[in-house]
Amino acid sequence: MLEYLRESMKSPGIYYLNNDIPVWTEDPLPSTINLKQVIEQVEALIPSAFLRYVQAVRIGMFDEMIERSLNALYKDGVLYITNMQDNNQDIIDDIIHEISHAVEQNNAEMIYHDGAIQQEFIGKRKRLYNLLKSEGFDVIIEQFLEPEYNEDFDMFLFQVVGYPVLSTIADGLFLSPYSITSVNEYFAIGFESFYIDKSPYLKKMCPQLSNKIEYIDEMTNEY
Ligand SMILES: [Zn+2]
Repeated sequence: MLEYLRESMKSPGIYYLNNDIPVWTEDPLPSTINLKQVIEQVEALIPSAFLRYVQAVRIGMFDEMIERSLNALYKDGVLYITNMQDNNQDIIDDIIHEISHAVEQNNAEMIYHDGAIQQEFIGKRKRLYNLLKSEGFDVIIEQFLEPEYNEDFDMFLFQVVGYPVLSTIADGLFLSPYSITSVNEYFAIGFESFYIDKSPYLKKMCPQLSNKIEYIDEMTNEY
């Protein structure tokens, strides 16, 4: 299949991540974006061992992303990334975010088996519950105790409370309001922070998450 893709799609605009994984655009990217540079920067930031979970990177507008209001998606080994990007950093963030889900889904046992990340995450959710309650929001505790994605809870967070209020209230608790969404996004935002901005807040604010990512990072040296 990959051979076929390589042979049939030798049109301009096919790039390779790690000299191996085809990257192509199905809808045009803004001219401000240099895909070659984007790929070089992703390669520089991410251990190449993680890329074995990725078979292809497709850039464009895809139905499932539109339906689910997502700007990126990892599914069946393929990274789907929106072409609606502001600049190189924007698309690098999306690619690395989805690589984190690839890593997470392929190493779920190692990452979550001891419950440390879930416990840290739920502890933060409980504190957020109290903070929002004291601000007068109509909060439902059960929703805060569920680590998986929940559409109603997501609506509550981003439609009722809203991003600006959430980022103020959750400051010091979560790296970004998006981390609150689910334990999977909590992991993904931590992974982004570890590999992209290398912020000291990850270690301070989310020690369990930070330990686990460091552990996975060290494991990549063994491949
Ligand atoms: Zn995500």
